[in-house]
Amino acid sequence: MTRRRRFPSTSAATRARYAKRRKRRLDRVDNDLSTAQWNDLVLKWGGCAYCGVTTAALQKDCLLPISRGGRYTLTNVVPACASCNASKHNSEVSGWLRRKRLDESAFLLRHAEILRSLLRDGGGGSVSAREQDN
Ligand SMILES: [Zn+2]
Repeated sequence: MTRRRRFPSTSAATRARYAKRRKRRLDRVDNDLSTAQWNDLVLKWGGCAYCGVTTAALQKDCLLPISRGGRYTLTNVVPACASCNASKHNSEVSGWLRRKRLDESAFLLRHAEILRSLLRDGGGGSVSAREQDN
């Protein structure tokens, strides 16, 4: 059963404006996720980072959405299926996981582990000291 939510205000013109704005935003930020890093991420997660589906094509999802200052970097991107990616959209990841009743702590733990192993394997990047809030 699919329920489509309609946003009457999103006309084609508005969407085009948003797309342009998004592109400008993307041009400004440094997006340094290499293809090799992306392949590593897909390999490590082995499916959608959120729901675990392995049969769907995976898309790059920014944990911190671009609209909130996120970037396409190794530490901010996870593979997501089209369904999760579309559902999460511009949401902040923790709140979205909770709303979807997905296991937030398991996700965060796995994400941290995967990053640690990727960075150790010579990802070259430096892990910024991130605050742990648990
Ligand atoms: Zn998914």
